[in-house]
Amino acid sequence: MQITEVRVRLVRNKDDRLKAFCSMTLDNEFVVRDIKVIDGASGYFLAMPSRKMSGRCSKCGGKNHLGAKFCNSCGNRLPQNRARKDPRGRVKLHADVAHPISVEYRKRIQEALIGAYEEELERSKQPGYKPLEDELDDDALV
Ligand SMILES: [Zn+2]
Repeated sequence: MQITEVRVRLVRNKDDRLKAFCSMTLDNEFVVRDIKVIDGASGYFLAMPSRKMSGRCSKCGGKNHLGAKFCNSCGNRLPQNRARKDPRGRVKLHADVAHPISVEYRKRIQEALIGAYEEELERSKQPGYKPLEDELDDDALV
């Protein structure tokens, strides 16, 4: 699938590792929003759109985010370490909603989006720069 359009909204928070939100259009037909550009220890990387994973309370059956310590519905103390771990042993609290399957395609997305981010960053230094409005992600900054 060709990446036919990329839109970048810069995040202006100097201390944060989150640098931008991107949307990409595939084959002029399908849009994926809410891809984050993160400034990592070894360069920029992308975080695909994700959702918080949840589990059920053993007492009332209520659904709770895996990071929660107490049940939202009944207040029951929830067991810790409910989350699964990824192959590197890190606790998984989020699951990707959409993501590339092959390493090659992941690379292509990385190059396209991080390239677009760097271009946008350069543009933002020009006088009269107009950032992309929030319509890209209604809830991006919540
Ligand atoms: Zn409960």
